[in-house]
Amino acid sequence: MTVLLRQLQAIADELLGRGLPAPADALRRARFRPDPPWTWCERCGVTMQERACRCRTRRAGDAAPEWIVRLGAHAGPLRSWVVDVKHAGWESMAETLGAALGQQLLDCGLISRGDRGVVIVPVPSPWLRTHTRGIDHAGAIATAVARACTVRCCTALRQRLGATQVDADARVDRIARAQRFSARRRAHRVVGKHVVLVDDVRTTGATLAEAAAVLRLAGAGRVTGAVVSVKD
Ligand SMILES: [Zn+2]
Repeated sequence: MTVLLRQLQAIADELLGRGLPAPADALRRARFRPDPPWTWCERCGVTMQERACRCRTRRAGDAAPEWIVRLGAHAGPLRSWVVDVKHAGWESMAETLGAALGQQLLDCGLISRGDRGVVIVPVPSPWLRTHTRGIDHAGAIATAVARACTVRCCTALRQRLGATQVDADARVDRIARAQRFSARRRAHRVVGKHVVLVDDVRTTGATLAEAAAVLRLAGAGRVTGAVVSVKD
């Protein structure tokens, strides 16, 4: 069924004249492999250098997810796929990258298949942006992650229209006041759960921290961040 859906999406991509190749072909041609587990900093997601990165000293009250899982650095073909998912509405690539990200979460041992204590939550985009772009990119990736891991997915958050991103150094109290995200009524489904917050790319980490803070206020237990790529 999933295979059929992917094929239909690939056909739709062709018919719409987007000139986008089948995702599987694109990945094969680029010889794409997700980064092996823990070749990146588990706290901020950047490529691990010889010395551990400075973010390892976690500040008190840090709202960021405890762990970050990624497919790779935001560079090369992975970067262009992420950009095309968002700006060209490349739904079938969102599916493919989401499935790979789900497998990465399993390979890293952060969640197990079919775990009922896990809820996948996409970082929401403002409604208007989703509407004009024709894709809820993080939502499409999150759906594929949940399917790959046979765990639940819940759009527990919404983003206020016109809300803007706060800077990377925003402190927790400022994050709480910024209120870029809010919990939907259905957010009760995250209470006591291990929430895997899904987004396409981690840049400064401010978005993941803001969303994680709202989820914890809503009663989430552990929060893990899962992103396709991380800007080093
Ligand atoms: Zn780090």
